[in-house]
Amino acid sequence: MGIRTGQQYIEGLKDGRSLYIAGELVRDVTAYPPLQGIIRSLAEHYDAFHDPELQSKYTFKSPKDGQPVSNSFLVATTPELMAQRVEGETLRKESTFGLMGRTPDFMNAFMTDIAMIAPHVLGHKDKQFGENAVAYWEYCRDNDICLTHTLVDPKRDYSKGVMDSGTVKIVKESDAGIYVTGARMLSTLAPVSDELFVGAFMPRHPGEEKLALSFAVPVATEGLKFIARESYARGRSTFDRPLSERYDEGDALAVFDNMFVPWERVFVAGDIVAHNTMMPMYPGYLGLQANIRGRGKLRFMTGLASKMANVVGRSEVQRYQEMIGELIGLNELADGLVTACAQEVTERSVQELARQTDPKFDLQDIAKQAMTAFGSPGQSNVAMAMLRFFVPQVNAKVNDVIRLMGSSSLVLTATEADFSNPDIADDLERYMSGAGVSARERVQVMKLAWDAVATEFGGRQEIYEIFFAGDPALAQQLFYRSPKRFEYEAMVDKLLAKD
Ligand SMILES: Cc1cc2nc3c(=O)[nH]c(=O)nc-3n(C[C@H](O)[C@H](O)[C@H](O)COP(=O)(O)OP(=O)(O)OC[C@H]3O[C@@H](n4cnc5c(N)ncnc54)[C@H](O)[C@@H]3O)c2cc1C
Repeated sequence: MGIRTGQQYIEGLKDGRSLYIAGELVRDVTAYPPLQGIIRSLAEHYDAFHDPELQSKYTFKSPKDGQPVSNSFLVATTPELMAQRVEGETLRKESTFGLMGRTPDFMNAFMTDIAMIAPHVLGHKDKQFGENAVAYWEYCRDNDICLTHTLVDPKRDYSKGVMDSGTVKIVKESDAGIYVTGARMLSTLAPVSDELFVGAFMPRHPGEEKLALSFAVPVATEGLKFIARESYARGRSTFDRPLSERYDEGDALAVFDNMFVPWERVFVAGDIVAHNTMMPMYPGYLGLQANIRGRGKLRFMTGLASKMANVVGRSEVQRYQEMIGELIGLNELADGLVTACAQEVTERSVQELARQTDPKFDLQDIAKQAMTAFGSPGQSNVAMAMLRFFVPQVNAKVNDVIRLMGSSSLVLTATEADFSNPDIADDLERYMSGAGVSARERVQVMKLAWDAVATEFGGRQEIYEIFFAGDPALAQQLFYRSPKRFEYEAMVDKLLAKD
């Protein structure tokens, strides 16, 4: 089939799903007003693939039937293929200004990681599981599926162990498949996705076999419901809430009640070794894609800071120039890091392809080291370092700059309705216009900044940047275990040993 249009995507959402949002059961999300902005943004995303100019940058030919499919599924084993992929990811992420973490290419990249490790990791005991994952990746690619995902166990009482968390587990197996009950979080994009992927994250230990699982199902599967947070889109104009009304992806708890998953959609069932080694083995398409998104947002937010300085007449003020200058420097670093990530993922892809057929490859060795998600100690890990440290840190930095520069201008704004009211329109022009710009233009920039850092949408963005790839302390622990620490200590020993 190949790439879908926006209209085909919208039609696909009319599937009778069980989505609870703000206390209401919404079966048809295409008729639920607060979700219309995000559905429109995603439909535009799908339509862009049919733009003749973009199609060559966004797609490649499916090896199955030659139809154009998103190059977020491309296995990049050469610098040329990687360059094609990076160009597509960059344009796509920047079409939503880096403000949507979960356009479908995020999960497409994730499924590509999984497909690459499927034969020798998921299929290490029973090759059928590896084949299921590859077939599912092909299905998502060739049918242009929009996926949501849940990796994390629900958090009730943090003092209790995972067995008491209520996390999804296998409750029954049959010849046809598995039955699962429990919950998972945090399913971003669930309200407007086609399918749900449930994957591995925190390692499972002996005795937790029923919790070692990975599978995928359509969102509208019997026994599955989503309890979503209320939408931040409230039907305001896009002048008043330029981001909340367009890019609120939605977040949800996924609840499974004796839900049936056919075997062909099961990738891990009770196999702790496969479960625990999945994430550390990924070549890194997910990380690269997420980092390109982080870079896109940094570029956009830097531009926003600069526009703010312009409209308040402080672009020539040294303090403002210094703040913007530092952000531009951070953008240079982001470019260098994305280049390094791309090289790393290309090398790892070649490595994983070789492992797929290497009789000497021993997954048990990896399993012993696999401490947590995203990377093993000892491997080069630029993509994860960028994802877990650089992107959240620069996001915090840029948000600070926006707040420092904006100050009261972020708060004392006017609405589109104010500008349309003849009683006050002249006052607004007289007292709120900016440096060479009308009041409306100045307020528009400030409202954008406000929505980016301080509304419900902006606040969620900030939390998202810190936690979307998991607890940052876990990443610090992972890097702590790197053997590089001993190399660095040895440098100190060398100096101390000098005469
Ligand atoms: C907006 C948003 C969207 C997300 N989208 C998705 C998604 O689509 N799919 C998905 O699978 N996940 C998603 N996540 C990630 C995920 O759901 C979790 O938020 C993430 O893994 C962190 O877990 P947590 O929220 O329970 O925080 P915790 O792990 O509890 O961390 C909270 C704090 O407690 C500290 N802490 C944790 N354990 C300990 C300990 N033992 N001792 C001392 N301190 C500790 C942490 O360092 C941290 O500072 C998303 C997260 C956010 C915020």
